[in-house]
Amino acid sequence: MATSVDIIDRITDSPEATQALGAELARSLQAGDVVTFSGDLGAGKTHLIKGLCAAFGVPEPAVSSPTFTLVNQYDTPDGLVIYHIDAYRIKHVDEFHELGYEEYVYGDGLCLIEWPERVASLIPPGSVPVQIDHLGEQRRRIRWEIK
Ligand code: ADP
Ligand code: MG
Repeated sequence: MATSVDIIDRITDSPEATQALGAELARSLQAGDVVTFSGDLGAGKTHLIKGLCAAFGVPEPAVSSPTFTLVNQYDTPDGLVIYHIDAYRIKHVDEFHELGYEEYVYGDGLCLIEWPERVASLIPPGSVPVQIDHLGEQRRRIRWEIK
């Protein structure tokens, strides 16, 4: 049986180019998927997510890093629910439990997680890891593989 694998390895030179790549990522995703975004502070995780959410019809200003709230919810015009989690401030996975992470990670929504390393033991197998490397002032390397 043929299997299709979507392998992306790109360089972007502006925040806008990263957002455009987010729209490309969106095309490979559907309800129920979990996508993790790894990269340093300022790598461009939130910008990639802005572009991804825009492709699902979420206005760009509505998408911001849930650094303090830990989770934002965006409802798309098509009825998809997107959970945007920033685990940067989570010090112990118990906090992720208390947040009710099962609904986000195992529910019907599309779940996007920045700083998955903070909650690594609770990231389900089969989630899509996206890696962003900060190469220069405006240069970023962005990679993912979807089986
Ligand atoms: P993170 O969520 O990874 O901490 P953000 O998306 O919040 O990162 O911020 C990325 C910062 O880097 C923004 O200030 C943005 O303007 C800047 N930037 C410069 N070049 C790029 C690029 N190619 N892609 C994404 N962001 C970029
Ligand atoms: Mg961020």
